[in-house]
Amino acid sequence: VSWWCSTLLVGGEVLEGVRVSHSADGRITSVQAGVPPRPGDVPLGTVVPGMANAHSHAFHRMLRGRTHTGGGDFWRWRRSMYDAAAHLDPPLYRDVARAVFAEMLVSGYTAVGEFHYLHHRPDGTPHEVEHTMELAVAEAALDVGIRLVLLDTAYLAGGIGRALEPAQRAFGDASAEHWLDRWHSLRDRLADVAGRDDRGSRLSLGAAIHSVRAVPTDDIRVIVAGLASSVPLHVHLSEQPRENTDCLSAHGVTPARLLHGLGALRPGTSVVHATHLDEHDIALVGGSGATVVMCPTTEADLGDGIGPARALADAGAPIALGSDQNAVVDPFLEMRALEAGERLASGRRGRFDPTELLEAATSAGYASLGLGAHGVRVGDWCDLVEVATGSVRTVGSAVDQLPLTATAGDVLRVVVGGELVAARGRLARPPRGSLSARPENLLRGAVAALDRATAASASTIPRE
Ligand SMILES: [Zn+2]
Repeated sequence: VSWWCSTLLVGGEVLEGVRVSHSADGRITSVQAGVPPRPGDVPLGTVVPGMANAHSHAFHRMLRGRTHTGGGDFWRWRRSMYDAAAHLDPPLYRDVARAVFAEMLVSGYTAVGEFHYLHHRPDGTPHEVEHTMELAVAEAALDVGIRLVLLDTAYLAGGIGRALEPAQRAFGDASAEHWLDRWHSLRDRLADVAGRDDRGSRLSLGAAIHSVRAVPTDDIRVIVAGLASSVPLHVHLSEQPRENTDCLSAHGVTPARLLHGLGALRPGTSVVHATHLDEHDIALVGGSGATVVMCPTTEADLGDGIGPARALADAGAPIALGSDQNAVVDPFLEMRALEAGERLASGRRGRFDPTELLEAATSAGYASLGLGAHGVRVGDWCDLVEVATGSVRTVGSAVDQLPLTATAGDVLRVVVGGELVAARGRLARPPRGSLSARPENLLRGAVAALDRATAASASTIPRE
């Protein structure tokens, strides 16, 4: 099957009549512009490349609309998140991930980097089946058809110089060496799973260091040395001022300088948030070849602050986007919030032009996840999103300005690896093991199951 796009917006160009063909494994084999559709082609309207959610914690979606009373800050929100984490066993974790990945797909995200740290039982002991939580995430992605880069996360400490807190034991490994052993074993296991699935080429494994708060410096060194440079490596960086003050008092340098000194800032690395950086940090990150994953709707929701995205881009860092806590799952709103933050902070418009915003949501995000080039060219993944240009939001909008006018509600059909996976807010078919193709039904079931699990066990999660 070939897809024929009446209009294709890519790399700042608006192309008319574009025929895109792909191989059975989902890669583009030919692209012809200025041609009519052939019999048998599937006609699409206005199309952009599939968008990447370069930073997600799927289960945080369960807190949406439940944390907005009583004030507080990031650290208070985190306690609610730990409560949710304590009640997620492997089947429920899979159902939550499946529902949230379904929401992402219908919203125009064709790929997700799941920053996964919920490895073990709440008391830190391993689950009966090895890698069962990781396989739950992989299964969820295969069920709905989204492209998944599982970013298995090293999380070894409860803060700089502090042991894991009781609520963090489920995240931990005994040491960096243990984490590396588990990571390599997981890679083999995921390759097995992928090899047996017709959507298996959409599954890959990356790595993450939670943050300089949660991984001691010697362990960061071990992890960087123990992973091939081709493995995408993600790390939270300076989301909160407290991370900076703790790092300065323990190490005498900022988190960015610490990571740089440990060799952790390199091409293939993505730093997430980068909210509280000084000028030296910005130059270091910008010159390192690392990508910066901004999560503007989360940073706004949690009151983190507005990161120096334009300055980082000017210093040389590619900017990608992530939905992080999934209070918002909408790639268009992430693009808009990135630019809105810049405008609010600078008093200037057009800090990122619409082409740069779409590149952040598409090619920079794919590169950050190790998914290669993503410009609707031969050899790229055939991941496409059709956008409504005649809705109440988008009618009258210049095609190249759709990143600043559309929303997830304007996403029509979604194609991953050449397969139609979603159309008008519904999955193309119910995910395996489920009766409904509607993400809202999958989400309702997951929220209700988590509520039941929470009610059944009076929470014994110790407070900070
Ligand atoms: Zn995060």
